[in-house]
This record gives sequence, structure tokens and C-alpha cells, in this order.
Amino acid sequence: MKIDDLPIRDELRGQSPYGAPQLDVPVQLNTNENPYQLPEPLVARIAERVAEAARDLNRYPDRDAVELRTELARYLTRTTGHQLTTGQVWAANGSNEIIQQLLQTFGGPGRSALGFAPSYQMHELISRGTGTRWIPGPRRADFTIDLENAKAALAEHRPDVLFICSPNNPTGTAVDRETVLALYEAAQAVKPTMVLVDEAYVEFSHRPSLVPLLAGRPHLVVTRTMSKAFGAAGLRLGYLAADPAVVDAVQLVRLPYHLSAVTQATALACLEHTDTLLGYVERLKTERDRLVGALRDLGLTVTDSDANFIQFGVFADPHAVWQALLDRGVLVRDNGVPGHLRVTAGTPAENDAFLDAVRTVTKELSPA
Ligand SMILES: *Cc1c(COP(=O)(O)O)cnc(C)c1O
Repeated sequence: MKIDDLPIRDELRGQSPYGAPQLDVPVQLNTNENPYQLPEPLVARIAERVAEAARDLNRYPDRDAVELRTELARYLTRTTGHQLTTGQVWAANGSNEIIQQLLQTFGGPGRSALGFAPSYQMHELISRGTGTRWIPGPRRADFTIDLENAKAALAEHRPDVLFICSPNNPTGTAVDRETVLALYEAAQAVKPTMVLVDEAYVEFSHRPSLVPLLAGRPHLVVTRTMSKAFGAAGLRLGYLAADPAVVDAVQLVRLPYHLSAVTQATALACLEHTDTLLGYVERLKTERDRLVGALRDLGLTVTDSDANFIQFGVFADPHAVWQALLDRGVLVRDNGVPGHLRVTAGTPAENDAFLDAVRTVTKELSPA
């Protein structure tokens, strides 16, 4: 029996599940995780808060996750300077679930979503999974967004949902505030369009968060995650900030009690330690900048990065370079962007191992 022998939905036929290879090699720099384990005092605090939650596991968790959303609103207010209330914040199991809830609410059959390719593949896959038609929008050759081309695409395709990923995965490209504002206005001029700004990597950016743009823009949503800067990919906690009406709207599709009491307790413990966690972010930014410089010194083309990863090339056969690095114990990501690979900034030792492997490999396989 194969998948295609089952009566699955037509649009799922022939698709493959999303996911980078999880290979057990010494240097894993392929999924943009934070390389630092959680600090011991935080691990102890998680144990304490989870133990408290465990006593009440006979009961369903707080369905509205009020304490957690209040602390997330406080974190966003403190780090962006924009005052947010509990009612403007919503949380779910990873920002992927947040995006899914948004597409279930604002996309769906007969509706469409547009994102600027190449970008985070899950935007397309979640669109497809929710029956939302996916439209790949244009980028310049340097991976920035050209406003005039973008406006033309909005006018032509009239999407219901517009994705702006800033900093963008896999290129590392940040989108400036003026461009986001212009895209928001251009989209609304065509029809009421939900504009989803994916800020999964914003803590690593040279530029400030776009959260302050929420004021007076009820169709704007900013999505965030604890998977990257907070070093808690295993926790599965994502969140959004938007007009309170958007938070009310996603309640229509969320599963009741979607966020377990254990998840809520763990996330709350992490939010007590944001200063330590954001300290790791500073180290990773320094390492990111060091990697950019070192790769450029090797004569490679490196896309400017505002994230904790770097897109580099240009290779005649990126997959051959990917394999050659893997043969030396270094796992990077081949996202299928022509000529390019992506590497996550790791610890200084991991980055040195990566650079050593690149030096050897590029000598053997000459760039295009
Ligand atoms: C990693 C990533 C996410 C995070 O997804 P989670 O479900 O929160 O782990 C979201 N958006 C982008 C662009 C990412 O790269």
C-alpha cells in the first residue's frame, strides 16, 4: 500500500513531507537552531514550573493561555518599545501553527497567498495544506524585493494573504520599514489583504522589529517564535502580535486546549530568562558577521545577512559542494536556490570547522 493508493486529497498527491535531513554528523549547521544549550538555572526553573503544572494535569490547560500571552506582550513591549496588551498577542505550537491558524482563518479554498520567492518553504506548504492557492512573487537577483514588480504582482494576482519574511529565510535579507509600509498600502488598495510579517529571526537583525507598524493597521500581523533566538526549538512555541480582532478571529479555527500546560509552563520559565538568552544572540551575531567576512575573503559571494544563517555561493553544482562538506562532517542546507547553500552560525568551534571544510572543498571544486 502506498500513499497514492489511499483516497487522499488531489493536491497532496506526489508531494513530499517538509524537512531537512536529520543526519548524525559532528557539525550540524543546517536548521538555523541556536547551538547553545539552555543555561542550567533555566533548566532548573523549567523543572520547577513543569512540576507545578504536573499536579494539575488532570485538568485541561488554560485554553486562552492568558499568563503566557501577558508575558509575551511584556517581552515585545520591552524589546520593541511598542506597547502591546495581552489581547493583541496569541500563542501556539510553533509559529508554523500560528501561520496555519492564520491561513485557516484568512486563506482556504477559493483564496490565495503570495510570498516573494525564494522564501520560507513552509509558507507555501501550509498554504497548500489549508487549500490556499500559492503564488510565488518576484525578487531581484540580489534577493531584495523590488517594489514596482511587487505592486504589479499584487494587482495581477489579488492575493488574500501576503507573506513578507524579514529577515528572509533562506537568503538572510531584511525588508526595510518603508518597503513593508508601501507593500501594505499597495495590497490594501487592491482589496482587503492580510499582510503577515514573519519575524522568526528578527532578534538577530541589524534593523528594528516591525511590531510598531501595527498601530492603525488592522490587517497587519507579525509572527514570532521561540525556536531561534530563544534557543528553544524543542519547545514548539510561536506567537503573533496583531489587532485584537485578529486574535479573536483565529479563535474560530484553533483547536480547544491546543497549547499544553507543560508547554505553557516551560515557555513562561524561558521568559523569565530572556536577558541570558538574548546574550547568546549577541554572540551569534558576532559569529555571523565573522563567517560573512571569512567566506568573502575566500572569494565566495555572500548575501547580506540579518539572521543567524548565511546564504553563500555561487556554485556550478551546489549539491556537490553540500555533499563534499558532509563528507567532512559538516552539514549545511541545500534549499534548492540555484547556485547557493545556507549555513547556520554555530559556536566558534563549529564555525571554524565549517570554514576549514569550505577551504578544502572549494579548492577541489572550483566556483562557477
Ligand atoms: C524557523 C522558522 C520559523 C519557526 O517555526 P517554528 O514553528 O516556530 O519552529 C518560522 N518562520 C521562519 C521563516 C523560519 O525560518
